[in-house]
Amino acid sequence: MFRHTNTNHIRLMVVGEPGVGKSALIVKYLTGRFISEYQSDFDWKYSYQTNIDGEQVHMEIIDSLTIDDSHIRWAEGFMMVYDVTNPDSLLKVEQIKQRLDTVRSTKILTMIMVANKTDLEHCRTVAREQADAMAVRLSCGHVDCSACGPETNVRFAFDELCREVALARQHSAK
Ligand code: GDP
Ligand code: MG
Repeated sequence: MFRHTNTNHIRLMVVGEPGVGKSALIVKYLTGRFISEYQSDFDWKYSYQTNIDGEQVHMEIIDSLTIDDSHIRWAEGFMMVYDVTNPDSLLKVEQIKQRLDTVRSTKILTMIMVANKTDLEHCRTVAREQADAMAVRLSCGHVDCSACGPETNVRFAFDELCREVALARQHSAK
C-alpha cells in the first residue's frame, strides 16, 4: 500500500487531554515498554523506522503538550486519545476535532480515535456506545488500547493510522 504513495515518510500527531496516556502510548509503541511516569515539559518529535505490511515506513510522531497550529498543519494523521475512566477526555476529542478542522480548513483529516487505559476496564466511566457514536459522527476508526500489559493493541492502532494516511494519499492523488 505504501509503495503507491510518493514517499514512505509519514507524519503523525498524538492529541488528547493531559493525562490520557499520549506519551505512554508513544513510548510503548517505540520501545515496547510501559513507562508509568513519563515527564516531559515540552512538545517532542520522535523519529521511527518500522515495517508495516511488509514495507519500510519512516514515521515522525509529535507528542504535544499544547496543540500548536503549525503542528496541525504539519501532520498528516492524528491519533485522538481519550481515557476510558475519564468522560471529559472523550468530550475533549470532539473539541479538538473542531480545532483541527478549523486550522486545516480544506485539507482532509485522517484520524483514529483511541480508547486508552482499557486495562482499567473495572473503572470505566465512558460508555462504549457513546464513544462508538462519536467515532461514527467523526467518520473515523475507533480502537481499544492500553499502554500497559502484554496485549495492548498499541502497535495495531499506530499501524492502522499509517494505513489510513497511505489510503488518503492514494485518494488525493486520483
Ligand atoms: P499524557 O499527558 O496524555 O501524555 O499522559 P501520560 O502518558 O503522561 O500518562 C498519564 C498517566 O496515566 C500516567 O500516570 C501513566 O502511567 C498513566 N497511563 C497511561 N497510559 C495508561 C494505561 O494504558 N493504563 C493505565 N492504567 N495507566 C496509564
Ligand atoms: Mg505527555
